[in-house]
Amino acid sequence: MSTKIDLQNLPVTEEFAPLAEGVCPVEWALERVAEARLISCGRSVTCRDGLTQVQAIITDITTGAGQPGDLAMLRDVVGYIAAMGDCQASLTAARGVLFSLDRYAAEWDAHCNRKRCAALVCKAYISVICLPERCQGDTACLKACPAGAISGGPGLIAVVDEARCTRCGDCLTVCPHGAIARSGPMKPKLPDAPIPVGSFATAAAAGVVRRRRRAE
Ligand code: SF4
Ligand code: SF4
Repeated sequence: MSTKIDLQNLPVTEEFAPLAEGVCPVEWALERVAEARLISCGRSVTCRDGLTQVQAIITDITTGAGQPGDLAMLRDVVGYIAAMGDCQASLTAARGVLFSLDRYAAEWDAHCNRKRCAALVCKAYISVICLPERCQGDTACLKACPAGAISGGPGLIAVVDEARCTRCGDCLTVCPHGAIARSGPMKPKLPDAPIPVGSFATAAAAGVVRRRRRAE
């Protein structure tokens, strides 16, 4: 989810508003840096190399490659840019990252050290699932999936193969019953394979379905 800021007209002293629900503060910070790199002239080493390094560190943090020391290193680099940067684009981006680090410290720690995204935005930390109680087996999601990651058929509860799913999101809006959803590491009970619509409660009671954790 993107929240655009007009970097060119933003004073360095601008206070950032709290982020809306559903906005990942780490992804938000990454967007601020990417925007700054797009509009920066690139003549300043602080801006050019600093923002490149910041973007690489945050990208690692959002994609599961974050290391325990990354947050301290990131804070050092953005602090340096905020103090020494000589263009508004880099200053504002650095201040945005500092704002996010300060205000949403727990979320940064969760991304970097526990590989979790509470907003369910960062693809590396989510699963896409079919909620079996809602699925009506109309196969719309199967047709929408470019990866062939959803199995099922007419009258069957769809099942997403996590290993094949690329988290592209193409299926998230096609289900007329709201059965396709994002999930964090703790998923609800799901069938392992497609079963007839309406049979889920019986299967769950018989222990045919189980609660699964996202592969980490
Ligand atoms: S999840 Fe939705 S779109 Fe997919 S088969 Fe079930 S009802 Fe149809
Ligand atoms: S997120 Fe993309 S790859 Fe995954 S099941 Fe949905 S359409 Fe297929």
